[in-house]
Amino acid sequence: MRGSAFCGPKGGRAVFILDRTYDPAELARHNVHAHSTQSNCAKREMTPEAMIRFAQDHGLKTLAITDHSDPFDAIDTYAGFLATRDLLRHIDTPVRVLVGAELSAYGVGKYAEPYEVDKALDFASYSHVHYHLPSWEQPEDRSPRGYAAHELAVLNALLETDRADNIAHPFSPNKMNFFNDAEKAATLRALTDNELGDILQKGERAQCSWELHTPTLFRFPAFARRFFAIGREVGVHFCVGTDAHSLADLAPPDLAQRLAAVLL
Ligand SMILES: [Zn+2]
Ligand SMILES: [Zn+2]
Repeated sequence: MRGSAFCGPKGGRAVFILDRTYDPAELARHNVHAHSTQSNCAKREMTPEAMIRFAQDHGLKTLAITDHSDPFDAIDTYAGFLATRDLLRHIDTPVRVLVGAELSAYGVGKYAEPYEVDKALDFASYSHVHYHLPSWEQPEDRSPRGYAAHELAVLNALLETDRADNIAHPFSPNKMNFFNDAEKAATLRALTDNELGDILQKGERAQCSWELHTPTLFRFPAFARRFFAIGREVGVHFCVGTDAHSLADLAPPDLAQRLAAVLL
């Protein structure tokens, strides 16, 4: 656990994991969202060793391993972190490997892991939109605007704390399986530019980066452009996450070009 006298505002962790950049080519060299075999949804090929070797062979500078930590799951995130860290001691690589987790802010002020576990990790990336899980808090107003407002409330509460280093798939409606595609897109349009600007700025003040989650951005390009433009105007730190569940998704060869096409 952290707690050294040398700790900065975020304990032993770097304040931001990446320098501020809006260059898709540079952003694409760092992947901060990838699932290993500790997540049931990942392919069996996703051992930490294979992930790191693949990242190295495909020119990634940073790889964050972010396995799920869902509310009331049976997974011991801290034990998993220790096991992976132990394994990494025997791997020599130029890739900067962060052992983190995709933690859950599953309601307003509700977190799946104790604060101490969050602070032990190299990288605390928070999901706020796993509304498909039965344990996730749902808004009273189940309209697209109701979900958008609830997301803002969850993020506002989270960013009052120093828990989050990154927001995983911000505002992604991908997992809102109860909505059709038009309703999913409506949750994004329901966020005003001012609301987006304010919450992005709050994240920046809380030293929290915002993930450019490629599955969401490629699916909702109008939102991608708006999100990136507002974030750039506000001066936030972005980083890229492909939400890789397979080796090929760790470093898709055309990632930088595809990102540039939806962001710029
Ligand atoms: Zn997720
Ligand atoms: Zn994920």
